[in-house]
Parts: sequence; structure tokens; C-alpha cells
Amino acid sequence: MGEVERRRSWPDVSAVLAVVLAVPVVAGGLLVLALLGKLVWPAWFWVVPAGWVVAGGITFVPAFEHFLLPLLFGMRSPTTRELARLTPCWQDVCEAAGVDGGRYRLWVDRSRELNAFAAGGRTVAVTRTALDLPPPGLAAILAHELGHHLAGHTRFSLFFWWLELPARILARLVRWLALAVPYVGRAFASFGRSVAVLVTVLLTLGILTALAFLDPWLLLAPLLGPVLAWSKRLGEYRADLMAARLGYGPELIALLKEWIRANRGDERRLWARLLAGHPAHIDRIKRLKERGFRA
Ligand SMILES: [Zn+2]
Repeated sequence: MGEVERRRSWPDVSAVLAVVLAVPVVAGGLLVLALLGKLVWPAWFWVVPAGWVVAGGITFVPAFEHFLLPLLFGMRSPTTRELARLTPCWQDVCEAAGVDGGRYRLWVDRSRELNAFAAGGRTVAVTRTALDLPPPGLAAILAHELGHHLAGHTRFSLFFWWLELPARILARLVRWLALAVPYVGRAFASFGRSVAVLVTVLLTLGILTALAFLDPWLLLAPLLGPVLAWSKRLGEYRADLMAARLGYGPELIALLKEWIRANRGDERRLWARLLAGHPAHIDRIKRLKERGFRA
């Protein structure tokens, strides 16, 4: 309990890294908003990015998590029957951690995978499939998600999602433009193959130059990706450890083993594992066992 309290007040490495690594993308997005401001309101261009940051404060308002989150991420409130399954497990987990379970809001994610999420200051979501787990497994998953909250992994997640939104929209626009390049190139094919190739190359260079000018940080994304994934994996190990310390270690290990059985092992290649935000189940079990937790 003392351990949990201490961890709650000090966000861990993964939480800090998530914020630090988001800075380039956020800066790029705000730069794009500043350029937009230059176009519409040159003397007060900074109002647009500053206003966006201030408006992001909405993500800390409980009502945002209660009403907008389900719309944005496709979650729904649990039915009475689902709540009857969820609530006892959630209360047990919160009691073990010495936190008020009523502070958090439980959601059901529509995906068919076996999964769960923690977001913002008070959101915990489980998939429909996770709800079908026997109570010890469901409690282990919930303990892992509470671990994310207590370790501070989620406190700024929605705020940064908001801050990164302009950069993400820009990236999507650029992707659409890039997808159109081959078609434009082909339209020039009647002038000869070399003309079509030249047009394609010039358009690609043009898009890359515009991107480097509009949002230089976006070009860093491929480099930051593996570091971000590594930091996320650290966060997953930490949430597992928090769950184990709350007394759910054996249930968690049993659940991870069941997962491996259901998926017939982890077939991902090394590079896929390095880029994944989630560690392989076998590695999660290994880490827990290294810390002295047994099935
Ligand atoms: Zn997790």
C-alpha cells in the first residue's frame, strides 16, 4: 500500500518519456497552427496555437471523459449485467490498492479482442471479450489498468492526444496527397514513360519539402517510433508489476499463459517486437517471475 501511494505521486520513467517524446509532434502541430494563424490573422498569429493549448484543458474536465470519450473512441457504458460482472472485481482491486473505485468510470470497448485500456484521469475500459473472463482473470486485467493510472501513465494521455491532433491531421492529409502521386504520374504516361517518372519524382520531392517546411518534426517520427514503443513496453511491465504487488500476480501470469495458448505462441519477428507498444506475453511472464512472482 505504501509502495502504491508512493508510485502514485511520482510518475514513472514511462510516463515521463511519453511526455518528452510527444514534444516534437506537439511542437510540429503547434507550428502548423501558427502558420495557419499567419494566414488568417498575421498580427495575432500566436492566438491560434495558444488557443488550441488552452482549449486542450477540456481533456482534464471529468465531463469530457464521461461524454466525449465514448464518441471519440467508440466506447459504451456497461449494461446492468456487465456492471454486475465488472463492479465486484473492480472494487476488490481498488480495495487492495487503497483507492476509491468510484473515482474511476468503467467502459466497454466494442472491439472483439481480449483487451483493456486506461486513459485520462479516470477511464478504465475493457473489451466485451475480457468481460467473459472468469472473475480472477478479469480482476487481473483491471489491476493492470489501475496500475497504469497509479503509475501516472494516463494522466496527460488525453491532453497530449489533443495537442498532437493538428500534426496527425496534417500527416493524414500528406498521406492522401502521397497516395494521389502515382495516379497523377500515370496521367502523364501519354507523354512517355520518362515524363511520368519525372513528374512522380518531382511531386514526391515537393511533398517532402512542404512537409519538412510545415512540420519538420514529422520527419523524425520514424526515428522516434521505436523509442516510443520501448517506453510503452516499460509502462506495460510497470503496470504488470503494480498489479502483482496488489496481489494479482498469479492470476496475471495464468491469464498471460492462457493468452499464449489461445494465440499459439507469439509469432512476431524480432523487428515487430521492437516496434510494438506491447511486450510479448512470454516476456511479461518472464519479468514477473524475475521479480519473484509465481503462477
Ligand atoms: Zn497496459
